[in-house]
Amino acid sequence: MAQQDDKDHVIIFDTTLRDAEQTPGASLIVREKVEIAHQLARLKVDIIEAGFPVSSDQDFEAVRRIAQEVQGPTICGLSRAVDKDIDRAGEALKDADRPRIHTFIGTSPMHIEMVRKTPAQVLQMAVDAVRRAKSFCDDVEFSPMDAARTDPDYLHGVIEATIEAGATTINIPDTVGYAVPQQFGDLIKTIIEQVPNLGNAILSVHCHDDLGMAVINTLTAIKNGARQAECTINGLGERAGNASLEEVVMALKTRKDYFDLQCNVESREITTTSRLVSRLMGIMVPPNKAIVGANAFAHSSGIHQDGVLKDRENFEIIDPREVGLEATSIVLTARSGRHALRHRLEELGYHLEQDDLNKAYERFLKVADKKKEVYDEDLMAIVGDEIRDIPAKYQLDYLHTVSGTSTVPSATVRIAVEGEEAVQESAWGDGPVDATYKAIKQATTDTVRVEEYNIRAITSGAEALGEVTVKVSEDGHQVTGRGVSTDIIEASAKAFLDALNRLAIWQEKERDQTV
Ligand code: MN
Repeated sequence: MAQQDDKDHVIIFDTTLRDAEQTPGASLIVREKVEIAHQLARLKVDIIEAGFPVSSDQDFEAVRRIAQEVQGPTICGLSRAVDKDIDRAGEALKDADRPRIHTFIGTSPMHIEMVRKTPAQVLQMAVDAVRRAKSFCDDVEFSPMDAARTDPDYLHGVIEATIEAGATTINIPDTVGYAVPQQFGDLIKTIIEQVPNLGNAILSVHCHDDLGMAVINTLTAIKNGARQAECTINGLGERAGNASLEEVVMALKTRKDYFDLQCNVESREITTTSRLVSRLMGIMVPPNKAIVGANAFAHSSGIHQDGVLKDRENFEIIDPREVGLEATSIVLTARSGRHALRHRLEELGYHLEQDDLNKAYERFLKVADKKKEVYDEDLMAIVGDEIRDIPAKYQLDYLHTVSGTSTVPSATVRIAVEGEEAVQESAWGDGPVDATYKAIKQATTDTVRVEEYNIRAITSGAEALGEVTVKVSEDGHQVTGRGVSTDIIEASAKAFLDALNRLAIWQEKERDQTV
């Protein structure tokens, strides 16, 4: 029984919360994952792969909460082809309206070798895994990992057996980003021609961008009959990333004349989703990135500008409004009320509870006081900064810095440490940020290392809000902290403390597990 009888429909499977979340330093706390999942539901993706429940308690909790709260899409959990993984995924998904278990095992010669099994044993494990997953839900996806480098006859046998066992979606992953379009398209076509029961399942692809071909491989597979595309927002993901959701979707829409296929995605939510994911994961979108880059719709050549003014379609294949990029006519100021703020935030995709709205409003007034006009990007940064819900072990009480051309930059901080007396420390450094970070380290923990520091202005103009993201590591664990302020030194201090608070959550988890 095929789930989707409509042969003209491409199912969009988003794995931002699973594959992209494995990017070093991109790890999200539960609340942030739930927030992204709500936005993915507004984007109307068909399936959200919410995590890998057996991998950590945090991941389990995130999948469980998304399964309980997020309406609309099918909620999927990943598992290896072993009982304890599948059981954990089944448990995390038990409250979902439409649960899916996605189970996988490597089928290429090197992957089979790695687990020290014979091909026949691996096939049996795949079949057993699908059967076990089936005891939790009807909707079961199976992936023969590294399919692009698997012997075709063996691959066809594994697919046929897992469909026979009840798999409703078969996903062909190019796990290491090795495939090239023509060959990958042929692989898909051959599967459709040669696996006799393939009509009983949806054929899916999962492509990686190691050679910059994730999107074109995905589209070529679709052209050859695949009907589910696994992708991520902003093309994030392990190593060079996955196929970018916005590129796959907009290619299908813009070149409908060529593909002649539909998908459910609400493209006007693309820009909001891209910004939310970029902000929460602390990974900026390159300006020249297709569809969501800052320059994707900017025309600088005089001839082009003139052409766009006369008729958009002369030089623009996509109307920017189609991806939700509209010049907003509403600019909030210090005179805007709570109601206006709530209204604008809802339009931006933020649905806040009263307490959180109050917090956001107080912060909004402070910002409006300093910079007069508050833009959408400012609001998104304020909400991201204010509504965080992570237990704050450290809080900034006081910050004073001295810098200039003829003085040694120095900083004094006072930091409130949960359950203890506030700590005050001073330090000097190369500049005020360096001095501040040294003082914070003295007051908190000395073993943490700053791996990466980024600052950007959220909107244009000298009075813009500055957003700092800082990636830090301790004992081999990486986290990213963020801070926002019109004062970049303060934003830097907040970002560093946010990172330390995130590390503290992780360390507590580790302690719990070793007890
Ligand atoms: Mn992957």
